[in-house]
Amino acid sequence: MTNSEDEIAVRPRSAALYERACHVIPGGVNSPVRAFRAVGGTPLFIARGAGQQLFDADGRGYLDFVNSWGALILGHAHPAVVAAITDATKNGTTFGAPCAGEVELAERIVASYPALEQVRFVSSGTEAVMSAIRLARAFTGRDLIVKFSGCYHGHADHLLVAAGSGLATFGRPSSAGVPEAFTACTRVLPLDDEAAVKALFDTEGARIAAVIIEPVPANHGLLLQRREFLESLRRVTSQHGTLLIFDEVISGFRLARGGVSELAGIVPDLATFGKVIGGGMPVGAFGGPRRIMARLAPDGDTYQAGTLSGNPVAMASGIATLDVLIRESGWQKLEALGTQLGEMLAPVLADAPFPVHLVRAGSLFWMSFHEAGAPRTAAPLSEAASARFSALFHAMLERGVYLPPSAYEACFLSLAHTTADLQRLTQALRESFAAIA
Ligand SMILES: *Cc1c(COP(=O)(O)O)cnc(C)c1O
Repeated sequence: MTNSEDEIAVRPRSAALYERACHVIPGGVNSPVRAFRAVGGTPLFIARGAGQQLFDADGRGYLDFVNSWGALILGHAHPAVVAAITDATKNGTTFGAPCAGEVELAERIVASYPALEQVRFVSSGTEAVMSAIRLARAFTGRDLIVKFSGCYHGHADHLLVAAGSGLATFGRPSSAGVPEAFTACTRVLPLDDEAAVKALFDTEGARIAAVIIEPVPANHGLLLQRREFLESLRRVTSQHGTLLIFDEVISGFRLARGGVSELAGIVPDLATFGKVIGGGMPVGAFGGPRRIMARLAPDGDTYQAGTLSGNPVAMASGIATLDVLIRESGWQKLEALGTQLGEMLAPVLADAPFPVHLVRAGSLFWMSFHEAGAPRTAAPLSEAASARFSALFHAMLERGVYLPPSAYEACFLSLAHTTADLQRLTQALRESFAAIA
């Protein structure tokens, strides 16, 4: 169903909304991946979500494996979250002054994440990363930052840097509108490559403020890293007085209560959060030990602020989400669900008419269409593989399953998903593979 005329016939309300949107919103969307450009066709406009399901403007239902890119770990409209947001709203939606919710959510995060002493709230993951980097530069008195090819850290200028071609490269902007001067202090390295890290630190180590990494990179497919690689980053940064930043905007409170830090037994100097901690409201946070966080204004000399930071409604949503996860042993349940998914998908993927490999970490999973299997580094998909994914995406949509509209995006399980939902996913995949073979 990639023919757009067919789609307009099938989903007239989404098509009409998209046409109106394109007049007043660039590309008709407020975040590019939503526009379906990678898979073709026109985006669904969503009218509502309930548990594991999404309903579009035309009233069609879909089993949702995007969950707002991982923000909805409890699924859509969880009653505890809806109640918390409703109650909070009755008391006003923003004060621009401190409220108890900020303290309560901060206490939960600090108590959960290894060695974390303080956090500050912002309104998005992008802001959390931007602020953490500014703080790292202030604390170390250095300018350079290191990121890894294939890791996404939001859309701040100095982090929108393209992948190098394998070896350490000087950062080049990957977006128009980002002056080269802004990324001149960014170094891009390949994942999974201790030698490249060492070579860079041998020459520039004394100038590097921070190394930032998604410890389970989940924005270029799912590029699971060797624990030794993460350990080597911890070692080399400590040796050079460089801060290690774990960007846990996706992985934090998803893979474990203490994120990848807990799972890998590696403590970063700073960590960034987003997605899950807002329970579907706009929340980001960054944190670390008091000795570093004290550099932030008003105590310190590093400015950082936000009109809606620590918003009472958003805090209530985050608190309710974390409380359900803790009360229901959510992470154990999600791991069990993920294991089940792996077992159910294995025979279907093995029978697929082309190579598809399942990569999974807890409730995060990715069907890799790479012919070579599951990569550890950011590699481009072949054109043939991309075309196969697009066909699968539309075949699944027709069968009522909503996958991320890009072959490079990971899928998310929520606590609302059941074994029956995994069976539906498996059956839809089997049929879709047959339909597009
Ligand atoms: C989503 C994401 C961000 C950016 O968060 P926004 O809330 O979209 O600004 C940063 N880092 C990682 C790892 C992410 O997945």
